[in-house]
Amino acid sequence: MDTLSLNHHAQAPDYNKHPEALCGMAEKYIKEKHPTLLAVCFDNPDHVGHQAGHDTPEYYAKLKELDGYVGRIIQAVTEAGMLKETIFIVTADHGGIEKGHGGKTMQEMQTPFIISGKDIKKGGEFHESMMQYDVASTIAHIFGLKQPQVWIGRPMLQVFK
Ligand SMILES: [Zn+2]
Repeated sequence: MDTLSLNHHAQAPDYNKHPEALCGMAEKYIKEKHPTLLAVCFDNPDHVGHQAGHDTPEYYAKLKELDGYVGRIIQAVTEAGMLKETIFIVTADHGGIEKGHGGKTMQEMQTPFIISGKDIKKGGEFHESMMQYDVASTIAHIFGLKQPQVWIGRPMLQVFK
C-alpha cells in the first residue's frame, strides 16, 4: 500500500499479544472521524495459513474470529450514524494451499469478493470472472471517479441496483 496516498495510516501492535487491537482502532477511528474511505487489513489469516495450513480447523477458527471483528466494525458504522450511506467490501489478496500460496492453483488464486450496503443488490451472486484490480475500479465507480487511463480494471457494475 502506498502510504503517501493516505491521510491517515496506523499499524496495530503485535496481533498475537493484542488480537483485538486492530478492530478496536478501526471502531474508534470510524466513530471519531467518519471516514469517507477506510481499509482495515487483517493479515493474521496469512500467518495461520503458513503455520497451521490453509483449509484447516485452525484457519477456519481464525476466519470465525475475523467474522466477529467484521460484525463489530459494522456496529461501529451503525453507531456513527453512517450505515445507510456505507458500502462494505470484504475481500483478500490471495488464497492458499497447504502452508503456502503464490502458485497457480485455484485454491491459491481465488479470493472472496463480498459487497453489501447502499445501492448494492441484496442476496445476489455473480459468476463472471473478476480480477484483484477490479476491486479498485469498483471503488472508483462508487465514488463517481473516472479511473486513470493506465488502469485495466473493470467496475463490477452487476452488483449495483
Ligand atoms: Zn503469505
